[in-house]
Amino acid sequence: MSAWQPYAPMADGFYPELARIAALCGAMPPESASEKNVQKSLATERLTERDFWILLSPAAEKYLEPMARRARDETIRHFGKTIQLFTPLYLANFCANRCVYCGFNANRAIVRQMLSLEEVEAEAKAVAATGLRRILALTGDAPAKTGAEYLASCIEILAGYFSSVSIEVPSMTVDGYALVVAAGAGGMTMFQETYNEALYAKLHPAGPKRDFAFRLDAPQRAVMGGMRSVNLGPLLGLGGWRSDTFHTGLHAAFLQERYPEQEISVSLPRMRPCGEKPASREEREFKPIPVSDRHFVQALLAFRCFMPQAGITLSTREPAHLRDKLVPLGVTRISAGVCTAVGGHARESGNGDEPQFNISDPRSVREIAEDLEKLGYQPVFTDWVLPGEGRTALPMGITQALGQVSNFIPPGANHA
Ligand code: SF4
Repeated sequence: MSAWQPYAPMADGFYPELARIAALCGAMPPESASEKNVQKSLATERLTERDFWILLSPAAEKYLEPMARRARDETIRHFGKTIQLFTPLYLANFCANRCVYCGFNANRAIVRQMLSLEEVEAEAKAVAATGLRRILALTGDAPAKTGAEYLASCIEILAGYFSSVSIEVPSMTVDGYALVVAAGAGGMTMFQETYNEALYAKLHPAGPKRDFAFRLDAPQRAVMGGMRSVNLGPLLGLGGWRSDTFHTGLHAAFLQERYPEQEISVSLPRMRPCGEKPASREEREFKPIPVSDRHFVQALLAFRCFMPQAGITLSTREPAHLRDKLVPLGVTRISAGVCTAVGGHARESGNGDEPQFNISDPRSVREIAEDLEKLGYQPVFTDWVLPGEGRTALPMGITQALGQVSNFIPPGANHA
């Protein structure tokens, strides 16, 4: 997309839905929902958009227990007691954007780096040695340095070590997504950050990410480019948590309805501090809106009740004790062994190790897997593996994965 050609939102995309959602929310401010409304919504077998909005209301705060029971039962029905594990791998931190909440933004005087293909392979080996077979590759937003071609080269390497390679990168065109899919990417994560367009403009004062609609349509373009799995999310703490959770859920439902073959899931990360002092006026003026644990849990439960079959990812932005408590309430995927610095899995720490944000759960992959087993959940290291012709697919668990680390996949063999 050229800077001088403003992006026109897709006519059959989510952008035109925003006006309808604004009208729906305006007709029923959250404070106007009653306990009776909440009880009725919870008694409904299949929640409507309105029910979802009601479960996000202040009146629903007293109903977290029944919401939690419903969320747990629905999750076990659809996913069993399994949790998929993955880890992020930061390929580069060059960035042309000035997102006011991010430690990688262009104003920050941090060491900028991108991994060479040899370094990508070293990272892949280091992560694969933990037993993980799902990876999420990330970059900042610097198309001239880390555009689709660089990404495709990295993905080809990663696909040799991991059964599932996903990306969290800047919005791309359909052709860009098709290129990385051909290289072996199967999933993408796109955080809209906030669905409040006016607030979005303030939080993103400069850079290509400033184009709200181009980002909003990105998940749909990814599907059109062949992406099998799409993960959406806000960044809770930027705008109103109720509204941003509601929009995320409706965006996920919108995509799932149009693309029933694709796996649509969500993440609900909360703001974390990002280290260094603010480097610009915009950053100094930025005031996050803290989301309490109670409201965070309400958001997660309401979403699970609304979309019982959708995956929910929980990141290391949340502390270990809270992550363990949330596992039975609807979560299906968590990150483990996380480092948010470029090359952080294989390199000795040193200059240029600035993380994008500070994590709250520093447990290793093995520690997280063992803690999940103590909770009665099976940690799943990969996508489904077929044990033999005509037999049922089984998720690969910790014992198998750790036992097979040395001989599981020869480097270069793509078994995606
Ligand atoms: S959030 Fe992403 S796009 Fe924004 S400054 Fe950070 S790395 Fe760049």
